[in-house]
Amino acid sequence: MPNPDRGGGKLPAGLTTRPSDFSASPFAYISRRDLVVPEGLRLLVFSPHPDDESLAAGGLIQRVQDNDGKVCVVFVTNGDGYPEGVKLRIKRAVASSNDFIEYGQGRQEEAVQALCELGLPREDAIFLGFPDSGIDDLWETYWSRGKPYTSPYTRFNRPYVKGKLSRWVKYAGVDLEAEIARVLNDFKPDWVVIPDPRDHHPDHATTGVFVLDALRKLNQEGELSFFCTQVLTYLVHFRDYPQSDSWSKEIDRAGVRGSSSASKVLAGTEWLNLPLTSDELNGKRRALQAHASQSPVLGYFLNLFTGPCELFGHLDSAQIMAVPQEYALCFNRADAR
Ligand SMILES: [Zn+2]
Repeated sequence: MPNPDRGGGKLPAGLTTRPSDFSASPFAYISRRDLVVPEGLRLLVFSPHPDDESLAAGGLIQRVQDNDGKVCVVFVTNGDGYPEGVKLRIKRAVASSNDFIEYGQGRQEEAVQALCELGLPREDAIFLGFPDSGIDDLWETYWSRGKPYTSPYTRFNRPYVKGKLSRWVKYAGVDLEAEIARVLNDFKPDWVVIPDPRDHHPDHATTGVFVLDALRKLNQEGELSFFCTQVLTYLVHFRDYPQSDSWSKEIDRAGVRGSSSASKVLAGTEWLNLPLTSDELNGKRRALQAHASQSPVLGYFLNLFTGPCELFGHLDSAQIMAVPQEYALCFNRADAR
């Protein structure tokens, strides 16, 4: 039976929306519908760096828990490839690999504190420890385990923080995708929240593509169904986002990482508001404050994300299947199909 709340049948079962209260939404120029979070939802959030989870989904993470759901946050990198932040911390012009490693470990602890402010215990965080500022390199150049990527910051070519990782994981595209697939299989999310593949930050865009490719393969292998798993995207780095509407005029023409790949596929993505309560907004502010190392370098930018709504793009199954294939073909990847 058609669901009258699905915008003429465009959204699949499992994702419910309702008309927005326009006066409450700063995104009324792009979205006229609100996301409805059901009871008992399993939410998996992928965060390229510590702080993206709070910036993009701090409100959603709290809402899911308030509705008796379960949340897991996956940090793809430790945020250890940030020279400006490291130099500010050590108060020296030249940073050593150890300085970068310690910076990343500090950001992990900040992430744990931020999740605590959002109501999540440490056990609900997974740190994959892949290289900050190197996720796009894994996809584009260092796909195979035979020639792993070495971080120019930490000098490691594999995750250096012990955690729930396979023993032989290297900084290779196949290994990152295998880790993402393992997390998806273990957690079995109803909703997966990822960086939008059109985000201008290479780590963000490529994290989104990696997760979509893992979902595509799991679907083909029969391990996961798009009828049960919904994919939502978020923007952090895009022209004037979120403070003006100029980004909304560009997003439908934007491809992945400056190429035109997948621009047609992604055009027309359905955007949905999540209006936040004052309690959720306060929790989100506290979570962002917990990322204390970022305030001196990015404080103004972080504050832009403490508006009354969060915004998510919904990808349908055709988009999930096509985006990673089109982007892999840009690099002549043999396993693009
Ligand atoms: Zn980030």
